[in-house]
Amino acid sequence: MAYSAPRGTVDILPETSGKWQELEQLLRTICANYNVKEMRTPIFEHTELFSRAVGDTTDVVTKEMYSFADKKGRSITLRPEGTAGIARSYVEHKLFALPEKLQKFYYMGPMFRYERPQNGRQRQFHQFGVEMIGLESPYVDVECMVMAVTVVEALGLKDITLHINSLGDEASREAYRDALKQHFQPVLNDLCYDCQQRFEKNPLRILDCKVDKDYPAMKDAPRTIDYLSDSARNHFDKVCALLDDLEIDYVIDTNLVRGLDYYSHTVFEVISDDPKLGAGATVGAGGRYSTLISELGGPENPGVGFAFGMERLMIAMGSESDEEDGLDVYVMPLETEAKDLAMQIVTMLRANGFTCDMDQCDRGLKGQFKSADRFHAHFSMIIGDEEVQKEVVNMKCNHSKEQTVVPLEDIVAFIENHYEGGHDHE
Ligand code: ATP
Ligand code: MG
Repeated sequence: MAYSAPRGTVDILPETSGKWQELEQLLRTICANYNVKEMRTPIFEHTELFSRAVGDTTDVVTKEMYSFADKKGRSITLRPEGTAGIARSYVEHKLFALPEKLQKFYYMGPMFRYERPQNGRQRQFHQFGVEMIGLESPYVDVECMVMAVTVVEALGLKDITLHINSLGDEASREAYRDALKQHFQPVLNDLCYDCQQRFEKNPLRILDCKVDKDYPAMKDAPRTIDYLSDSARNHFDKVCALLDDLEIDYVIDTNLVRGLDYYSHTVFEVISDDPKLGAGATVGAGGRYSTLISELGGPENPGVGFAFGMERLMIAMGSESDEEDGLDVYVMPLETEAKDLAMQIVTMLRANGFTCDMDQCDRGLKGQFKSADRFHAHFSMIIGDEEVQKEVVNMKCNHSKEQTVVPLEDIVAFIENHYEGGHDHE
């Protein structure tokens, strides 16, 4: 039987894992700049957490979750997103009681959603996300949005737009909900089955529908920002004013409602028009959540956050990888005895912090030089019978082509003296 990876999952092979590490490193550096600390939560949680936090009427919860009963019959779900786990952990460990009232976290890792796989859409995919919990301040919304923009700029993504909208507070949403129901009531029969369900349970979700998105009644639907309460309006105005001050470009997108239930006030998406992704693809999205923490049993601490799909970032970044880091030394034993010595030398060099490798395939000189080339080795170290006898090695610099006979005890010193680009010389 031939095995293949489950549909919607991919193997990240060594040829691309370097690019992933670059992306991860860059994201970690930005988080350090923003004083945002990493939080690692479990890949699976109790199913109730997601149905409560993400929302019972959302696509994620109703259609996309990987849920199963464990051996004790408890319902477990592979995390479809990162915010619920962070919020749970924040409450469970009473992080709200820490002296810093604003807590800033980031996470990076696999998420699971049962969806139809296509370009930039997988069943196991990766998200990088940030949560800033503790304050209901427009300044923090903007800190989050600036950070999201910093990410796409640092990655060199082109054709990016920040879309923002406000869903307002509880009162605004109630008024808006009524307006939406009035708007869609007369055309309800023309909407898809899901939207008819949404109409009853959560009419806001209709605006997020991918099936009915081009339906005329979608275009002239009431706008959330026309139903904001005074305080919600002030919050949103301040967000816009701060973005203006910081000269961050954005568009107010009145149809932006986001697919998860926990959002209120500011919501935003980072949209790419890069043809590699298909026009108008969302690479990252986020918003403010005011009641999530209290719904999970914590105090009424509001938060704001965002998440980027890392596969989509990778696609938009393009595949051209930077010149791969080469080996410092490739060790080339030409006889059996030389191989024993080579093994000792690579072990010693690695212990000294050099990146190196040796031929394990007992090949001739030509084959071994090819490997040295493929690994971009700075030095090739050739060891034949004669070298073993004389307790020396033959060091060839693959750049200058110069060859030098080096006594065994001088190997480290030789590399350090002749090589700027090595492990800790940067
Ligand atoms: P979409 O509308 O594309 O389904 P979403 O609203 O479900 O996105 P979020 O839950 O906001 O997405 O997740 C944030 C980001 O995670 C998305 O903008 C996207 O980049 C990425 N993402 C979401 N689902 C997937 C998936 N199945 N495969 C790859 N990336 C995904
Ligand atoms: Mg989705």
